[in-house]
Amino acid sequence: MNRLVVMKFGGTSVEDAAAILRTAQIVAGRVAKGLEPVVVVSAMAKVTDLLLSAAATAAKGDRASALAITERLRIRHHDTATQLALGRELREDPLAATRSDSELTATHAWMEKEFDGLEEILRGLAVVGELTPRISDMIVSYGERISSRMITEAFTRCGLNAVYVDARQCIITDAQYGKAIPQDALIERRLKEQVVPLLAEGRVPVMGGFIGSTEQGVTTTLGRGGSDFTAALVGGGIDAGAIEIWTDVNGIMTADPRVCPDALRVKTISFEEAAELAYFGAKVLHPATILPAVKKNISVHVLNSRNPENSGTRITALATHCRSPFKSIAVKKRLTIMDVVASRMLMSHGYLKAIFDVFDKHKCPIDMVSTSEVSVSISLDSNEKLPAVAADLSKLADVKYEGRKALVCMVGENIRGQNGIAARVFQSVRHVNLRMISQGASEINMSFMVEEDDADEAVRSLHAEFFSDPDPAVFDLEAIRQGVGSRE
Ligand code: ADP
Ligand code: ASP
Ligand code: MG
Repeated sequence: MNRLVVMKFGGTSVEDAAAILRTAQIVAGRVAKGLEPVVVVSAMAKVTDLLLSAAATAAKGDRASALAITERLRIRHHDTATQLALGRELREDPLAATRSDSELTATHAWMEKEFDGLEEILRGLAVVGELTPRISDMIVSYGERISSRMITEAFTRCGLNAVYVDARQCIITDAQYGKAIPQDALIERRLKEQVVPLLAEGRVPVMGGFIGSTEQGVTTTLGRGGSDFTAALVGGGIDAGAIEIWTDVNGIMTADPRVCPDALRVKTISFEEAAELAYFGAKVLHPATILPAVKKNISVHVLNSRNPENSGTRITALATHCRSPFKSIAVKKRLTIMDVVASRMLMSHGYLKAIFDVFDKHKCPIDMVSTSEVSVSISLDSNEKLPAVAADLSKLADVKYEGRKALVCMVGENIRGQNGIAARVFQSVRHVNLRMISQGASEINMSFMVEEDDADEAVRSLHAEFFSDPDPAVFDLEAIRQGVGSRE
């Protein structure tokens, strides 16, 4: 039996001392069962956002405000480390805090050094005034660098044989800062050199998600939400038996429970369905998480660190048969629709290629495309490259683009071969103005674009239509019976 398991804990699962102690218990539970975990952790909740805002503030020349942000982060980490070290003793003996604890002093010392380093970069940035993606990655990496080291020390205090691994030594990427591409062969080699021997010694390696470095040692990041991706890369690299994504909801739900409070837990879902959902906006899983797992057929579980007894969602190679067409509804916001219209080019050969070459040149990924004889509508992430893309495209055709759009995407293996589904979809969202419509080439998704402000309402209407009589083989109905929410 393969005992290796990668356990990834997201920001809310390590948001404060209490959450970190829960995490330690969950890991200890796996060790007690004879499993050999590698732990991947995110930055504490909201830290990545705050580091990005400190960077943007410093780049505007507002040094004082940027340093005020890092000062609050310094205090939060300092206090969390104190609570982790003294929490139990403090409850039993309020004077414990005044006793000197040399381990805690050492923890505070390395933290101070890290925050001093971060502040030095921000001071420099405030003078230079130019925030490059490389500097941004350097700044934002501090979240995971500090959380992972602090959590390793907390695990050790809880009796785990934990050992800190700097993720940047193992997760080798190219130099596309902000969304760097992992170099699989190098990662596998580094993991075999640096992590596998620790496991053989019975230790529990703990590393930060999201961060990596180039072969030359320059810090990079894998894109927002990238700690899931790190977990999958580590799982693939060490040939783990399972990857566990521990988060703040009971698993993959039929919709984002923040948008749709009636959302149900999906008990099992296929790799293909999960990948599609993640790609089309279900934040619970980073879109790149599934591929490394599929390549090596590693099972993936999504679990709730606040409710570890819940069996979560199992992602498997084959889809369980389900009587409803869809398993879940995802929404991707902050999109732009670009319309490219060229009557001159009507029927001309190579037209689409010329258009897509422009997106390729600007490394601008596309979500959805629909074409007519003279026009092509394209949906894309709103980003700073759009004006340059539009300028290049306008050499070929007339170009218009409009932001604040959202893509609503319904995913399920059972769409194929069922009649009348499109009619039910459009009937249930008849009050919403639909822009582009597509049934994905994979035949497991059906999507449409709407105004961003209409997206949540569209999800709730679709959910009411398609999940009012859920199949108990696939969805968790226990929660409805007990009136228990997805987060408990
Ligand atoms: P973490 O910090 O653990 O990585 P995230 O915030 O990235 O957690 O992802 C978990 C969140 O994803 C949930 O709190 C939920 O609001 C959101 N979410 C969006 N779509 C779904 C879905 N289909 N199922 C479950 N959660 C979803
Ligand atoms: N901390 C990073 C983020 O917030 C990565 C992650 O949590 O997955 O995007
Ligand atoms: Mg996440």
